[in-house]
Amino acid sequence: MNTKLVKPCAASFEEAAQLINKGEVVAFPTETVYGLGADATNGEAVKKIFLAKGRPGDNPLIVHIASVDDIKNVISGEMPEWAKKLAEAYWPGPLTMIFEKGENIPSCVTAGLDSVAVRIPNHEDAKRLIEEAKKPIAAPSANLSGRPSPTTAKHVFDDMNGSIPMIIDGGESDVGVESTVLDVRSLPVKVLRPGGVTPKMIADVVGEVEVAGSVMRPLKEGETVLSPGMKYKHYAPEGALVIVKGAPRRVADAICSLYDSTEGKKCILALEGNLALYRGKNVFSLGKDSSEMAHRLFDALRRMDELGVNAIFSEAVDAEGIGLAVMNRLGRAAAFHIVDAGE
Ligand code: AMP
Ligand code: MG
Repeated sequence: MNTKLVKPCAASFEEAAQLINKGEVVAFPTETVYGLGADATNGEAVKKIFLAKGRPGDNPLIVHIASVDDIKNVISGEMPEWAKKLAEAYWPGPLTMIFEKGENIPSCVTAGLDSVAVRIPNHEDAKRLIEEAKKPIAAPSANLSGRPSPTTAKHVFDDMNGSIPMIIDGGESDVGVESTVLDVRSLPVKVLRPGGVTPKMIADVVGEVEVAGSVMRPLKEGETVLSPGMKYKHYAPEGALVIVKGAPRRVADAICSLYDSTEGKKCILALEGNLALYRGKNVFSLGKDSSEMAHRLFDALRRMDELGVNAIFSEAVDAEGIGLAVMNRLGRAAAFHIVDAGE
């Protein structure tokens, strides 16, 4: 199959909407990462997403809609009052909420679960595609399963060339990490995956929020997963990744000694303000704070593969605010191989 890379314009949205309505898969930009979309009401179309990604069939997809009114076609019954408040505060935006699944949604979208994950993306191109297709669009991140999520159309092309008909190139994703996944079926609401909308932002609206224990550690043997995606190895670069946490000076000392004692092609991922601590070494900037790090992280991990790096040493950031999502992704990419250099 020939994969077309198109700029967002009237003709490309028309063609993309036609493809979606014919049961094909189209990659499109959102503010979090690029999505791989198909008509969420068409089971055969949705199966093509799993095929193109090599995604295990037991990992459910997020359904994207363009306005809160459209949710009635996707969920069963009414949105709980607290979910309405969250929608008012953070939709469109990087918040995915889990509800009881409606009958229109085939079970392959939700991997057989009786719940469904729903989000309104805050991106003009995503909104326009959903509106023109006049369908809810099921879309996971547009990467091959296990690879870092794509934050540019080029990342999508690298993974999907030849397996989907079209990629809409809307430039770099703004947030850079995927949405927060929040179970809102009962109180307290529960964060299953941290993302752009932080636990504090959620608590500000609904008072109390729980964060699933598995967010910052590997799953225990036999542990039931609330969000099936959490059990898979994710975001992993080809080189071995080690995270070092602690006071900046100690972290730098520990990283430098790990770097010096490692053979082969190696690279350090560090915050802008710490670059001078790694003078003379192969070092890549993750930006000035955790929010810039969210924006750059997946691109950095993909670059490590392009450079053929076999050992990567990364600084940690505080798991606060957007830093929780960053450390969740970085932790999973490193299979939670975290060294504590001390305070
Ligand atoms: P992706 O869009 O590739 O970032 O993956 C979607 C994430 O949402 C995965 O971690 C899924 O496990 C999670 N997810 C989707 N639907 C549900 C659901 N019904 N219940 C719990 N987690 C879900
Ligand atoms: Mg994904």
